[in-house]
Amino acid sequence: MTAVVTGGAGFIGSHLCEALLERGEEVVCIDNLLTGDIRNLDDFIDDPRFRFIEADIGEGLPEDLPAPDVIFNLACPASPKDFEALSLEILDVCSRGMVNVLELARESGAVLVQASTSEVYGEPEVHPQIEDYWGHVSSVGERSCYDEGKRYAEALVMAYRRRHGVDARLARIFNTYGPRMRIDDGRVVPNFVCQALGGRPLTIYGDGMQTRSFCYVADTVAGLLALADADPGDIDVACPAYNIGNGTEITVLEFAECVMDACGTSAEVQRVPLPQSDDPTRRRPDTSKLTALTGWRCETDLATGLALTTEWFAAKLAETIGRAAQGPDRGHRDVSVVSRPRDHTHGL
Ligand code: UDP
Repeated sequence: MTAVVTGGAGFIGSHLCEALLERGEEVVCIDNLLTGDIRNLDDFIDDPRFRFIEADIGEGLPEDLPAPDVIFNLACPASPKDFEALSLEILDVCSRGMVNVLELARESGAVLVQASTSEVYGEPEVHPQIEDYWGHVSSVGERSCYDEGKRYAEALVMAYRRRHGVDARLARIFNTYGPRMRIDDGRVVPNFVCQALGGRPLTIYGDGMQTRSFCYVADTVAGLLALADADPGDIDVACPAYNIGNGTEITVLEFAECVMDACGTSAEVQRVPLPQSDDPTRRRPDTSKLTALTGWRCETDLATGLALTTEWFAAKLAETIGRAAQGPDRGHRDVSVVSRPRDHTHGL
């Protein structure tokens, strides 16, 4: 079996590549390293069944790709902090990039798992969120590039399913956390963990009463694999979308307490105005549809997941401080570069 993973050098993508290799599959990882990090591949980049290609899927896919049996399309910046700085890149990868991936699926007959998101529900009026809910999304808010980009990608998937019979499935991924998140990506998990480990106040945006449901990355990856493995005849044709996430919902304030417990600290909290007006107030997945399809369930509770995550961040922070003390980084690994990331302002 050959799997292509776009965005494979990112946080979830790198864990997915690793899990596919552990299952004995050949893995081709494509990433333009815009928000991905080549160091995320350190544990398996030398595996002979693994190949890394630096390329931007918006520009077209590399020509010498082996025909895949399965494609996971995870390429897209995903942190709210990226939504301002990389808005055009996000819209590009969700449109041109999505078409290129769908064409590969059409030509090869591969199963395609498209990484969609809880953000397609926007500020939800239905709670918990079920896949049949159409969402409540601002097309002009700060998050619109991501929310509407991912909704457009879902529409492209449906058009290719209906017109070309592509076997594409939509994985609506809810907040996922774990090792290999970017330290500075601005999301609540890296922010709180790094603040707690550094003895700094935890920044609570708004009143902290907004809720999220945090899923450990191993559970998210298991959900993606289960969805890919599902029999095509069992997929819901009218709505091939499946939520992946953890059903335990907590407020941001409660989450701050959990992070302090995991780090063994009792840092202060600092109130900060909400940076984005369309920050959803409630979010919890109903995952019964994927469980009914595949038997998949979350296995990692928040305390266990946070312990693994804070351990990784502590080591990463120590390494970063050590590298800074040594001067410029000379240890960066050479990789086979098939195409350079393009000038991201050109043609947009
Ligand atoms: N948040 C916060 N402090 C931070 C970062 C985020 O209170 O330092 C809040 C943010 O406003 C949101 C929630 O935590 O309500 C989750 O934010 P994140 O950026 O992780 O992802 P989102 O679920 O909003 O996409």
